[in-house]
Amino acid sequence: MSATCGLVDLFGRRVSYLRLSVTDRCDLRCVYCMSENMSFLPRKELLTIEELDRLASAFVARGVSKIRITGGEPLVRRGVMDLFAGLSRHLASGALKELTLTTNGTQLARRAADLARLGVRRVNVSLDTLDAERYRALTRRGALGPVMEGLQAALAAGLKVKLNAVALRGTTEDEIDDLIAFAHGHGMDLTLIETMPLGDTGEDRTAQYLPLTELRRRIETRWTLTDTVERSGGPARYVRVAETGGRIGFITPMTHTFCESCNRVRVSATGVLYTCLGQEDRIDLKPALRGSEADGRLHAAIDAGIRGKPRGHDFAIGRGGAPGLVRHMSALGG
Ligand code: SAM
Ligand code: SF4
Repeated sequence: MSATCGLVDLFGRRVSYLRLSVTDRCDLRCVYCMSENMSFLPRKELLTIEELDRLASAFVARGVSKIRITGGEPLVRRGVMDLFAGLSRHLASGALKELTLTTNGTQLARRAADLARLGVRRVNVSLDTLDAERYRALTRRGALGPVMEGLQAALAAGLKVKLNAVALRGTTEDEIDDLIAFAHGHGMDLTLIETMPLGDTGEDRTAQYLPLTELRRRIETRWTLTDTVERSGGPARYVRVAETGGRIGFITPMTHTFCESCNRVRVSATGVLYTCLGQEDRIDLKPALRGSEADGRLHAAIDAGIRGKPRGHDFAIGRGGAPGLVRHMSALGG
């Protein structure tokens, strides 16, 4: 297969979007994402910044036009700004249309201006609550103040910000009106995500789970929602809120599927290509990356992975609220 061919899977879907995890580590331990005592990968198992650049660049050569850097928390990875700096050359050449990241925002205050300078235009910031005590409890350690400063810095740097909030029974139900007012008051979209049963968190998934159909009904008691056909290249369905003019996105992997139009693949920080967030299909790209300085083997391995991209996911909360997949969300970055 030529290294210049696009990436099209067996179901005719063109892969144009890469989510690249740069670390499995994080400064937080969100209750729906990680367990209190996580064991992280030995650092030597992670791809180096140079390897991450080479790998991402191979995908760009195959027609990937959007890259999202994620984690774990991407901004705690040492050297991550060098990766942004390196990949920005593909923005300059026009091969890459978008370079972006998903972050918990704790380090954003000191990174936002540089990210904007390197060509990042949009950033997703995960924030589930506006209450400092609740934030500490949900993240098991975080402080809300730095995240708020990070949001301010991002907006001041001209970045378009989207807030991601996971729908949690008890929490989101109380705060949804405040989250909408806060996000839209600052010109930010808000995306609500159903919790997915990934990895053991030491928490009961069934107790946390709040279906977005239910949350939407609640939102509609206060706000006027109009469905839109707008898409952001991701799985979110958007509605517009008449009172604010802002948008709310709904990501509903548990109650709907969006696999027919899936254009994305994920690579872990160790160089494993996962072709579906909800399945275990994967191929390790590291041997190809490390085994040869030329990219031929790497492209062949990527092709083999894309050929194995499954038709769709099969999420289910296991009996007793157990996770449906043993892998944590932080291994792949959502
Ligand atoms: N640390 C960064 C952050 O929090 O934005 C990036 C990685 S984090 C794994 C990416 C996204 O996954 C976050 O928006 C987080 O809320 C979401 N997430 C984590 N665990 C989840 C789960 N079990 N179900 C649904 N979303 C989850
Ligand atoms: Fe860290 Fe993001 Fe997972 Fe929270 S959701 S523990 S911030 S990786």
